[in-house]
Amino acid sequence: MKVLGIETSCDETGVAVYDTEAGLLGQSLHSQIDLHAVYGGVVPELASRDHIRRLPILVRQALAEAGLDIGAMDAIAYTAGPGLAGALLVGASVAESMAMAAGIPALPVHHLEGHLLSPLLAADPPDFPFVALLVSGGHTQLMAVTGVGAYTLLGESLDDAAGEAFDKTAKLIGLGYPGGPQLAALALQGTTGRFKLPRPMLHSGDLDFSFSGLKTAVLNVVSGPGWQAEWAADLAADFQQAVVEVLTAKSLAALKQTGLKSLVVAGGVGANVQLRAGLDSATRRRGARVYYPEPALCTDNGAMIAFAGALRLAGGARPEQAPGVRIRPRWPLAELLTPAGG
Ligand code: ATP
Ligand code: MG
Ligand code: FE
Repeated sequence: MKVLGIETSCDETGVAVYDTEAGLLGQSLHSQIDLHAVYGGVVPELASRDHIRRLPILVRQALAEAGLDIGAMDAIAYTAGPGLAGALLVGASVAESMAMAAGIPALPVHHLEGHLLSPLLAADPPDFPFVALLVSGGHTQLMAVTGVGAYTLLGESLDDAAGEAFDKTAKLIGLGYPGGPQLAALALQGTTGRFKLPRPMLHSGDLDFSFSGLKTAVLNVVSGPGWQAEWAADLAADFQQAVVEVLTAKSLAALKQTGLKSLVVAGGVGANVQLRAGLDSATRRRGARVYYPEPALCTDNGAMIAFAGALRLAGGARPEQAPGVRIRPRWPLAELLTPAGG
């Protein structure tokens, strides 16, 4: 089964062709970073317009790389939410109309399910069940995953997401947008230990997180008396260490609570080298194992949407035949319908 996947939930336009037999056959991606950088964050209206401009070109590219035309597809999967309403509408409209023209089904996909399943695209994928740590720009969640569509929320951030904390802290330190990767790069040049930052909710006894206090602690440092700009790398290193410590401790606690031995990490912060190092060593000591998507598939992309759509269809999902553009800008993963019997 061949599925064309379309991702437009935020500031990346991604398209891919996934074949359940042959794997990923074509991928195209355009990041709008340059477009939004001057504003210091994503401007929704600009994002929507750029998706409109890029999507036809990217669809042609992905199909060309696959050496297939749209007639060879069995379905078109698109991100229906959560995300920016206008941006989602672009992907949904293009997917639904292309599917209608080609006489194939269009399947709305949950963006976080795409992230969550993306580690299964790796060369050495984990088996179900596993614990998933989803750390993206908008979400920080621990989930027990027993199969496609079978997700139980174990804990989540009560305020900022991990990626959001990285981005906001980067801004406080004076770095450009998007801050997460820049802060991580700066942290590599710093040494930890100069600043005593909190480890929010480390000992809360549950699997929830909180990152806004950490950001405030950084604000207090940089706006306090005696702050010296040359300490920025050390502050970045201490901030990163605090986040990594909390994410690692709670992931281990989730493995312990569920009795599972596999941890899957997904979402943009999953590209963080320090987080990977921390999780690798902590899990190894406990006889567990961590699985990641390749770094390029941690942030938003079309491949994870094509893949999630294909798994859903292979699992018996029956897309609605009624024409219509279906988006859901706010859509908790816990509300995903589990396939019957699953
Ligand atoms: P969501 O998926 O929750 O809707 P999103 O799609 O914006 O949010 P992703 O694309 O998964 O999120 O990830 C983007 C986030 O990952 C940003 O907050 C970015 O700063 C962060 N990020 C990317 N690379 C790194 C890194 N190396 N270290 C830390 N954070 C990173
Ligand atoms: Mg993005
Ligand atoms: Fe995302």
